[in-house]
Amino acid sequence: MPDNVAPETMRAWVLGGPDEISLREVPVPRPGRAEVLVRVDAAAICATDLEVLSYGRPAMIEGALPFHKGHIPGHEYMGTIVGLGPDVDEYAVGERITVEIHAGCGRCRRCREGMYTSCLNYGFASKGHRANGFTTPGGFAEYAVNNINTLVRIPAAMSDAEATLAVTAGTSMYGLDELGGLIAGQSLVVIGPGPIGLLGVAVGKALGADPVILLGTRESRLALGRKLGADHVVNVRAGDPVAAVQRLTGGGADLVLECSGGDEIIDQAGRMLLRGGKLCLAAFPHAPVTVDVGHWVRNNIYVYGIRGEGKSAVRRAVALMAQHRFDATLIHTHSFPLADLPEALRYARERIEDAIKVVVTMR
Ligand SMILES: [Zn+2]
Ligand SMILES: [Zn+2]
Repeated sequence: MPDNVAPETMRAWVLGGPDEISLREVPVPRPGRAEVLVRVDAAAICATDLEVLSYGRPAMIEGALPFHKGHIPGHEYMGTIVGLGPDVDEYAVGERITVEIHAGCGRCRRCREGMYTSCLNYGFASKGHRANGFTTPGGFAEYAVNNINTLVRIPAAMSDAEATLAVTAGTSMYGLDELGGLIAGQSLVVIGPGPIGLLGVAVGKALGADPVILLGTRESRLALGRKLGADHVVNVRAGDPVAAVQRLTGGGADLVLECSGGDEIIDQAGRMLLRGGKLCLAAFPHAPVTVDVGHWVRNNIYVYGIRGEGKSAVRRAVALMAQHRFDATLIHTHSFPLADLPEALRYARERIEDAIKVVVTMR
């Protein structure tokens, strides 16, 4: 089979029931209007993939989508364009790209404002909305169809594995965007050294935040945070994290990016801020949390929630990666072939050998 020619069928991991996934031979999808066919070269596993496996497609709109048998998960993938939909001239066959998750419908109020990750038609494929690996087929397969708006070109020197990390870096970037984007010279606290937190440190440092402080519980992750640009790390088990941040910043931080989804830490995050500071919540706690809202009000604390990787943040994160402003591959810990996806998922779920980003490769 020469490159750039798609066969009729492909191997894809397909959801059966909860936590039931099997490798099947399925038809290769065909690109429609404003779409391309991507030959997937690599796909990273995200914690959200594990939720999709167990609970089906996410309930990001009112009322959960029904558990979707036949769904192909995987949303952090990259590959090579091998086919173009009608009249697509923005990209060419043979280009290497990485992908964003969301293509908004383009017709709702939020899409028209550029907030396509907050599309009001989330899940309505017939209205043009796509969320790769969530509401539409994803990248744990040899081929995937993508809207051209979700494509980001990558430089030849960027490895396949590094390119799969673009969505993660883009999510961190979007969080920092929502904090106002004026990062240079401001103190930034990142809470939670998971993939988004670690790359939040890296992106914040690349954008000039000073100092960058990473909070977490695992020393190995904090050490990695230092390699990615943290000026200071704080183990929250070692003492009062609020006092530690106040000491390191001389009174309080300008910005906090919360990536842990912890309970108590969200109230503490508000207290780490200097009066008038900004808090971005990038992780979702699984239960309601208790915070002293009065403290936020009295101190003019700005609070933002972010959804995904909006406002072309992935494209801008890729620019930083292409300029070698940080080494995202430090969080890539394991690789498996596509056929071993269940083992790759086990490594990700159980954090075997301190797995952070596990990548499956197609060839
Ligand atoms: Zn993800
Ligand atoms: Zn929309």
